[in-house]
Amino acid sequence: MHNLLLINGQPVAGTGSELPVFNPSTGAELTRIPEASPEQVLAAVAAADAAFPAWAALPPRERSSRLLALADAIERKGEELARLESLNCGKPYHAMLNDEIPAVVDCFRFFAGAARCLNGSAAGEYVPGFTSMIRRDPIGVVASIAPWNYPLQMAAWKLAPALAAGNTVILKPSEVTPLTTLALVPLLAELLPPGVVNIVHGRGAEVGAPLVSHPRVRMVSLTGSIPTGKRLVESAAQTLKRTHMELGGKAPVIVLDDANLDEVVAGIRTFGFYNAGQDCTAACRIYAQKGIYDRLVADLGSAIGSLKMGLQDDPTTELGPLIYAAHRDRVVSFVDRAREQKHIEIVTGGGVGDGNGYFYQPTLVAGALQSDEIVQKEVFGPVVSVTAIDDLEQGVAFANDSEYGLASSVWTQDVGKAMSAAAALQYGCTWINTHFIITNEMPHGGLKQSGYGKDMSIYALEEYTCARHVMVKW
Ligand code: NAD
Repeated sequence: MHNLLLINGQPVAGTGSELPVFNPSTGAELTRIPEASPEQVLAAVAAADAAFPAWAALPPRERSSRLLALADAIERKGEELARLESLNCGKPYHAMLNDEIPAVVDCFRFFAGAARCLNGSAAGEYVPGFTSMIRRDPIGVVASIAPWNYPLQMAAWKLAPALAAGNTVILKPSEVTPLTTLALVPLLAELLPPGVVNIVHGRGAEVGAPLVSHPRVRMVSLTGSIPTGKRLVESAAQTLKRTHMELGGKAPVIVLDDANLDEVVAGIRTFGFYNAGQDCTAACRIYAQKGIYDRLVADLGSAIGSLKMGLQDDPTTELGPLIYAAHRDRVVSFVDRAREQKHIEIVTGGGVGDGNGYFYQPTLVAGALQSDEIVQKEVFGPVVSVTAIDDLEQGVAFANDSEYGLASSVWTQDVGKAMSAAAALQYGCTWINTHFIITNEMPHGGLKQSGYGKDMSIYALEEYTCARHVMVKW
């Protein structure tokens, strides 16, 4: 592992404090990486600022071809990247290789194409004798700050649209999971002009915060927790930066009596536990109508109990450990507090796994009430709760009774009910008879305290531009 940062096109060692990086499956230290020093953070901003005019002025087809080359290089390096990320996050290697690497490659390819479609419209003659037109221009230097749950995918979601639109970027991966982002350094150094992308490693307060407060940084894009989002927006307000916030979630899953039970069970087994449930859209808050509730709890209990927890390189592993010890402790205490409530039944799971890794058993909590903490708060682990509802109206009301607004699903054979739920749910995404599936053509992003701004799709490209009016006198 070379573990170098990227500043102004040069791979360089960090000169700040050394931070350990762990394997969550064993608790063993994988490596130690020095974070960027304050001077290196400033140098990264200066490099991005200096690179901006030339990058913004490149014809879109040239930015596009660089992004396509980057996609090809990531694809060629897919096995190495999958191995590194599965080691650093504990997620199964096969899921990383077969699901996430192709999605990352496709993200760069999608935005390479989109770069060539970013047209301002010739808006017309609104004032006699004058023609108006719209330009969509890049914003400038973007600080992109990523979380630990999908390090490579979040890097792609942040880099691809920002670069396609003509911005330059300083990307800070999570200090917990920097390995795959740092593995991109040689590719970025080879394929992009110096300064267009800079990678700095380090902790939030030490390395992230100075990026957010820097006056030459014009936009901050965060994927992370709600408290961090609030802190960043407050700091960005001092220089009136644009902010783009992809924050937490607690996805409701409304299951009506007429739903296909087998599909619901299979869906929750997969989409509630991918990445050990450490996903802001995980199917974790089930609202089951009373006619299907008992059968659902019984079948789901067996299905969840059959999930295979294990090491990342075992091809039969379905879920790995949680990311670090303190996060597992947090999940343990959520379930322990739920267990103390008389109305709650832990149908399966509810304990830590064997070994030194940070494993937590896939867990089903039945009988949860709307007011329970386990229903209201983001657990971010392999824990699914089920709450009984009378009808669709109550399901929608319970689903919307939340500060989160990222993703939701409704399961029913009745198209009319499904469509009325989709209209009423206050979520950035509603799936019908499925959950979790995203595609680079469609936007991803939240409402309420799940944040604002879109990742993926042409909407993300627009986020990274400003619309400008140009008027011509005849
Ligand atoms: P986090 O908020 O702790 O950290 C996210 C990033 O912010 C890290 O890189 C961290 O170093 C940085 N950071 C922390 N404090 C900072 C500061 N003061 N200034 C600048 N940067 C700072 O989140 P996490 O624990 O890494 O990730 C888990 C959270 O992310 C969960 O809440 C999850 O729901 C959310 N998430 C949301 C989405 C989405 O698309 N909405 C996707 C993935 C994860």
